[in-house]
Formats: sequence, C-alpha cells, structure tokens
Amino acid sequence: MKTPDLISAVRDWRLEQLVLVPNEVSPYEIFNIQDIEVLRQIARHRSKFVFLTKTETWELNSSRQFILGSMDRLCAFLEEVANGGCRCLKYRYISCDPDAEAAKGLVAITEKEDDQYSSHYRCVCVACNSCFSVSQQEERFGYSNIWTLRNQI
Ligand SMILES: [Zn+2]
Repeated sequence: MKTPDLISAVRDWRLEQLVLVPNEVSPYEIFNIQDIEVLRQIARHRSKFVFLTKTETWELNSSRQFILGSMDRLCAFLEEVANGGCRCLKYRYISCDPDAEAAKGLVAITEKEDDQYSSHYRCVCVACNSCFSVSQQEERFGYSNIWTLRNQI
C-alpha cells in the first residue's frame, strides 16, 4: 500500500478493509499528506498502524532501529491528529523546508533573515494560524530545519 494508493483508499472509504504492507508504508509521505480530511481518516484508523511500531514486524538488520523510530513518530503524530491536531504538527516530527511548505500553500512566511550559515524564518500555518520560528542550518548533506511553535497571532 503505497501512499497514493493509501490516499485513494481513504477517499473511496476502503481504509477499513485495507491490509498494510510494512515496507510500503512511508511515514515521511504520510506526514506530508496535505489534505487534512484524508489525514484525519488515517488518524481515525491509526490502530492499523500500531503493528508497524513492533520489533517483530521488522527484520533484524541495521535499519530496524531507524524504521521503528520513524513508525513511533508516525503513530504519535496520528494520535495527535485524531485528537483534533492540525497538519502543522508534522513540523515537530520531520524537517521541512519553510520555502517548500510556503510554495505548497501550507504556511505563509512573514519574516526571513539570512546570515552566513543559517536562515531564520517566521511562518504562520494557513489552516490554524499557529506561528512558528524556523531556524535553517546548512549541514553536510543538505539543511536541517528546526521549527519552534510561537504564540497564535
Ligand atoms: Zn496548523
């Protein structure tokens, strides 16, 4: 069940019957689902995802701890969404580039400052008006983005 198929299953009300294939579940892609209604349906069926957080679901190899960590974060996120949380909760769990999020229409950037090695942003979630400050640092393999929730505007 790859993410686009998962999304279609939700839209066709087939999520209930769905059998998840562990290797096809991409936490990163699920975190990034933009349609909040789809995300809420998935969150409502979050019990389907719990087996992915169990050690015995995954083969013992060098990536198992990493996979278990991302499945734990996915389930924690779905729990929060199920309790009414906004999709912008994902910024606590994954590193997202503020410019890319703004280009998708998910946040509005209200301030941006660059210095030599980093950029500092202020962003607002267009869905719930939560304010974030984001610090973006260049790292060896790309950028890290640390999102910190500020007060509502
Ligand atoms: Zn939000």
